[in-house]
Amino acid sequence: MNLAERDAKVIWHPFTQMKNPLPHIPIVRGEGVYLFDENEKRYIDAVSSWWVNIHGHAHPYIAAKVSEQLNTLEHVIFAGFTHEPAVQLAERLLPLLPGDQKRVFYSDNGSTAVEVALKMCLQYWVNTSKQPRTKIIAFKEAYHGDTFGAMSVSGRSIFTNAFSSLLFDVEFIDLPTAQNISQLKSKINYLSNEVACFIFEPLVLGTAGMLMYEAQYLDELIATCQQHGILTIADEVMTGFGRTGNYFSCEALNTKPDIFCLSKGLTGGTMPMGITTCNSKVFDAFLSEDKLKTLYHGHSYTANPIACAASLASLDLLLAPETMANIKRVSASHAQFAMKITGHPKVKAIRQTGTILALEWETGNDTSYFSGLRNQLYQYFIDRGILLRPLGNVLYILAPYVISNEDLEYTYQTIERALKDI
Ligand SMILES: *Cc1c(COP(=O)(O)O)cnc(C)c1O
Repeated sequence: MNLAERDAKVIWHPFTQMKNPLPHIPIVRGEGVYLFDENEKRYIDAVSSWWVNIHGHAHPYIAAKVSEQLNTLEHVIFAGFTHEPAVQLAERLLPLLPGDQKRVFYSDNGSTAVEVALKMCLQYWVNTSKQPRTKIIAFKEAYHGDTFGAMSVSGRSIFTNAFSSLLFDVEFIDLPTAQNISQLKSKINYLSNEVACFIFEPLVLGTAGMLMYEAQYLDELIATCQQHGILTIADEVMTGFGRTGNYFSCEALNTKPDIFCLSKGLTGGTMPMGITTCNSKVFDAFLSEDKLKTLYHGHSYTANPIACAASLASLDLLLAPETMANIKRVSASHAQFAMKITGHPKVKAIRQTGTILALEWETGNDTSYFSGLRNQLYQYFIDRGILLRPLGNVLYILAPYVISNEDLEYTYQTIERALKDI
């Protein structure tokens, strides 16, 4: 049996209907922007392996740092103990974040980073108020993860359908535009004293299909929240670490959120890890002689030293001037291609923020995630050695920043050919 056949007998893949799935391609190694399968066929990883890889695969610098850490200390319980990589990562990360972030709380992935943020906010109100606020505001099309709290604050969709009766109530609002911003602010004003927090993906909603909105309106929403003491959570799990052109998406704002959620690019795509950071307003609400005011949350692998070492190495690379130059180069290249393709009869919309380029395919009426078009597009690019994984009818490029101009050009040309062929 080959690997795909063995896989088909024992594995349950994520987001995959396991009855007659598309074949799973066995990957044997990665190098830079490329993945190689069993037959040495090469794929350009144009989705950064689910948005996590920012510096390319099997990066020798990250590999060396991880290997060094692996031979020194692989893991230690993080209650009652601490270690250099965890402290150093917090020391280096906090000043990079917009605003005045004071503390790092470690967990395992993007969903847990969101769970921790929600628990911080809800318990903030339990700790500080006689009538704790419990309402949460989120965007209708948001995605914040697949655990129950994260699912609850995500838009209701086919992904949450089976669990809808168990998800807690959330006040969903539309993405802000020039037309609806005053209406949205009125809604927040109206709900004001009941609302514990507002959680959002800053500037780009990834899973919703790379939907984009303007910083100016997010500023207005955050400012309105702040007038009522409503805590604000920036879920930068996808947008963080250079993705939108700044190190963090919220750098484009004048207002500053109270809490940040980070994961995906954090370790350069090497190890799973999540981080929730907060300012002193949030942190101080948990300081007390009263044990009940403790944040009782933790995971077995909290602050895993290898994941911290990978993050530190990834941060070294991120802060190197070449990386910002690459981010600017990729962004400019996307902008140029977007201009070129605008107005194409099969392109319903094209959007770009930093290194993210999204192209909405004209489909007439059928725009569902299940549309045949999605699988057709996926296969078209796989056949041509490019990993692009459309969200329904939205095709997007979200590549490691090291992608070369040649590989970008090849990807654009293949998209143009697909627009002719499909
Ligand atoms: C991917 C994602 C998450 C969930 O992260 P996981 O590591 O997959 O649990 C949360 N928020 C946003 C914005 C994401 O893109």
